[in-house]
Order: sequence, then structure tokens, then C-alpha cells
Amino acid sequence: MSQTLFKRIIDREIPAKIVYEDELCLAFEDINPQAPTHLLVIPKKEIASIAELGEDDAALVGHLLVVVCKLAAERKLSNGYRVVANSGPDAGQTVPHLHFHLLGGRAMSWPPG
Ligand code: 5GP
Repeated sequence: MSQTLFKRIIDREIPAKIVYEDELCLAFEDINPQAPTHLLVIPKKEIASIAELGEDDAALVGHLLVVVCKLAAERKLSNGYRVVANSGPDAGQTVPHLHFHLLGGRAMSWPPG
């Protein structure tokens, strides 16, 4: 089975601007930023999307969100930020490895397109 792009970033086969790493996850700059801050926080475990999460993943997902929150604080996004997890084609997911987008540094509209 071919590896996803994000698995290849985890394995350092593809370069990325990594801003945080621990035993469970990795965070790096999005290659096509949609806001002044646009980070992706991903688990090292290969999970295709939030639709694939099981009960056993609850602590892992909690950890990912705590990391998102810490990165937002580090970047002083005190005026707010958005956390997005696209799941499946209708949401526009393009990489089948679970990831949380952290977007901030500008005002955003709602609803999304
Ligand atoms: P999705 O559309 O699946 O929710 O988000 C995938 C994200 O991955 C997009 O925002 C896209 O810009 C980003 N991306 C795609 N390829 C690369 C890459 O090679 N490196 C990095 N850092 N980000 C990527």
C-alpha cells in the first residue's frame, strides 16, 4: 500500500517546516497557508480521517487538541483562531491522514465555502 504524504513527512522522506513533535504527534506549517498562521497537527498513528476514529483513539485526539491549543497560545492568537478537520470528499479532504488545521492571525468569515 502506498504511503500518504503525511506519513512520508513523519518519516522525514519529504521536508516540512516542523514546529512541534512528541511521541504521538507532529505539527508543521501548511505548504499553502490560508492565514498568517496555518499549521497542521497530525497523529503519528495512521488514521485516515476523523470518520475512522475508534474509542481507543479518544486520548490521542484529546492530546492533538491540547497541542493545537498550546501552539495557538505560543503564537499569541489571543484574538481567536479556527480549528478544522476536513473529513471526506464533501469537506474537501485531500490528504487521507487525520489532521487538524490551526488557522489564525486574521478575521475569518462563517459559514465556510
Ligand atoms: P485537507 O484539504 O486534506 O483538509 O488539507 C490538506 C492540507 O495539506 C492542505 O491545506 C495542503 O495545503 C496541505 N499540504 C498538501 N501537501 C503538502 C505538503 O507537501 N507539505 C505541507 N506542509 N502541506 C501540504
